[in-house]
Amino acid sequence: MVRQTPSSNGKMFSCLTIDVEDWFHILDSPAVPDIQHWPSLESRIEKNLDHFLSLLDSLSVKATLFWLGWLAERHKDLVRKCQDAGHEIASHGYAHVLAYQVGRKAFRRDISDAKQILEDITGEPIRGFRAAGFGITEKADWAFDVIKEAGYEYDSSVFPASRGHGGIPNSPLGPYFIETRSGHLLEIPMSVVKIWGYRTSFFGGGYLRLATIRTIKWGIDRLLAANQPLIVYVHPRELDPHHPRLPLSLIRKFKSYVNLNSTLPKLKWLCESYPFYTMLQMVENYIKSFYLNSRVIPVLRLRENRVSDYSTLRSIRTLPFDRDAFRDRLLLVEREMASFLNVTTLHSHATAEMEVTSSV
Ligand SMILES: [Zn+2]
Repeated sequence: MVRQTPSSNGKMFSCLTIDVEDWFHILDSPAVPDIQHWPSLESRIEKNLDHFLSLLDSLSVKATLFWLGWLAERHKDLVRKCQDAGHEIASHGYAHVLAYQVGRKAFRRDISDAKQILEDITGEPIRGFRAAGFGITEKADWAFDVIKEAGYEYDSSVFPASRGHGGIPNSPLGPYFIETRSGHLLEIPMSVVKIWGYRTSFFGGGYLRLATIRTIKWGIDRLLAANQPLIVYVHPRELDPHHPRLPLSLIRKFKSYVNLNSTLPKLKWLCESYPFYTMLQMVENYIKSFYLNSRVIPVLRLRENRVSDYSTLRSIRTLPFDRDAFRDRLLLVEREMASFLNVTTLHSHATAEMEVTSSV
């Protein structure tokens, strides 16, 4: 299998993400033990994550690891091992809570604690966040304000289709900025494709385990043709088919444990077939492509429930409304976009950016 490179296909924006949690971190079932019982349960994270790390090493892939704070504070050396291996460390919150269940105050504390713990361990800013169970809904969209307020720069919690927990079925399908009370938050939603108008995924968790490689490949072709990034998400327990089982309901058992044996061969196939990046590297590639191709970057204004289309010079010229207000907003977004580019990239795009800002 020949691995495609960004130069052979400029549309390649692929990112491998791992939600680092243990086998008992399953959501929203009475069969799941409370946090006070977690320390007494067998932990399999070290063995499973080590398996992941050697797999990624053998495939020369760098991934983004969304660590649960509770687990990170018990496995500090393992966090550092992931960091030393060149993977991006991001946050999956502290106690695997659903924002819409715990409310604004507890959610803020949970995600701020996780950020602090991970920053103390790694000595570096933690820029990315993913909510447990992709558990952000339209009704709990205050969560985006809280995520930005807590200091995260990007979020990867939106599942742009219907699902058990969370899911924002009318979310844009590619990355976009969310205008929160504390500034613009970059949102990188999960990858979904439309089949007969219905949005579905083949690219993570149970979806990846159920789909055949042929279906996954078909889905990836559709994503890339639409300029949507490929975001794959997996859990360490999915590389461990013999992990203990929780007494879940039949449907949850199916979703959580079906085809666990297929995760490893599918992951190997994915990594051998597509060039995977960390989420930060992928974002940088993606934003560069906006500059290079003058594409439109959507900005979602919360509570107005619509996507505005601020973005490139081309669209500004044709927009009929207040140019000054528009320019101020555009500059804010540009500044956020620039924060994801490294110094060399910024230098090479400085001229283009100046042309944009001086012409409006
Ligand atoms: Zn999780």
